[in-house]
Amino acid sequence: MALSGIQIFKLTPKKNCKECGCPTCMAFSMKVAQGAKQLSDCPYMSEDALAQLAEATAPPMKTIKVGAGDNEHSLGGETVLYRHEKTFVNKTLYATNLCSCMDDAEIDARLERLPQVDYERIGERMYTEFLNVNYKEGTDAAKYVEIAKKAAAVRPVILSVKDEAVAKAALDAVKDTKPVLNGADASNYEAFCKLAADAGVVLGVSGKDLDELYDTTAALEKLGNKNLILDVTMDTAKATFEAAVQVRRAALKDGDRTFGYPSIVNVNRLTDDKTMQEALVATFTMKYGSIVIVDEMDYAMALPLYGLRQNLFTDPQKPMKVAPGIYPMNGADENSVCLTTVDFALTYFLVSGELERSGVPCNLVISDAGGLSVLTAWAAGKLSATSVATFFQENVESKIKNRTLIIPGKVAVLKGDIEAKLPGWKVIVAPLEAVQLVKFLKDLKAN
Ligand code: SF4
Repeated sequence: MALSGIQIFKLTPKKNCKECGCPTCMAFSMKVAQGAKQLSDCPYMSEDALAQLAEATAPPMKTIKVGAGDNEHSLGGETVLYRHEKTFVNKTLYATNLCSCMDDAEIDARLERLPQVDYERIGERMYTEFLNVNYKEGTDAAKYVEIAKKAAAVRPVILSVKDEAVAKAALDAVKDTKPVLNGADASNYEAFCKLAADAGVVLGVSGKDLDELYDTTAALEKLGNKNLILDVTMDTAKATFEAAVQVRRAALKDGDRTFGYPSIVNVNRLTDDKTMQEALVATFTMKYGSIVIVDEMDYAMALPLYGLRQNLFTDPQKPMKVAPGIYPMNGADENSVCLTTVDFALTYFLVSGELERSGVPCNLVISDAGGLSVLTAWAAGKLSATSVATFFQENVESKIKNRTLIIPGKVAVLKGDIEAKLPGWKVIVAPLEAVQLVKFLKDLKAN
């Protein structure tokens, strides 16, 4: 159970020395209870107090790391059920499927298609982070190991296998890449616990219903394994949805640490229908899959799913910004015209997309507007004639010879003031909508 600030305060040194950044030990205790401070922020906590408080003040959901090196990913660590309460911490990651039931040509074709979904959107790389390697009972174990090796060479893998001998052979081959061994259940958890511990990898645990999942997880914890992921995939989409939500609620609302682990949802086991799979991936991105496994991910499927994920896992308290600076478009140089807009990421990507579409060489100049949109920044005083003129004098005039500046149509009112503050510059007002920029720039170039 989570401790109150008063309970934590009783175990603090009560020096009120402020070294933790709080004015008093009581204030520190309140922040620890809220999760805003760590016990380790106080250098004077006794070993005894730390031992007493460590378990009780630990986050309700563990953060589990999977993969190695550049391919290492964090899962879980969430503290709230809804994004608007605070923020989500670690985004849902996607996996596509390989199976020992597929022939070599199909495996190779799937691996070849994998890079087709790999693009950047608002500074984030959009790609399939994991490969799920499924072992079908009765198929060739040696072939499964070969598939696992091929997959682990390109992505961190989830070894979905319930056969102990096959699991051991696959782990021996790829354990250095820190895969997830997803195969423990009520019938084999002791053996799989040992396999995962010996290989130093995360263990995935499943159950035929929530009760069995809970009991098996508790039994694994009793064996000392807390490096777990809960596979909440049940027989139907409805039962899986209920399991995913109940597990997360039990961990975060009821403080039940046995369910305080990240989760896996395998929508590939719920339906063969591609459209339904896409709908389920969207559902379990919102509710509450840490890894969602889908059969395959093509570009048409990726665009809405990655957009949804990005919206969901962006901190609502932090504006999405791009760095201020000069962004040359279409091979622009110092002789090309300048356009300016704000550093709000969506504005930048809308405007830059249209500029690229125009094919006209130009320099897009982004100044610091607090991550706000054009009109909001103007209303808040963060986009003004002074801010634009200052930015151009300090950052642009020494680098760009062209003295034509195009300002957003929505702040046409700034034209006169900018011209007054930026002598030598010709200021032109752009159209109101970004989509009109293509014709506007082409006409400008033609004249
Ligand atoms: Fe109290 Fe420790 Fe903070 Fe000092 S650093 S004020 S002793 S909690």
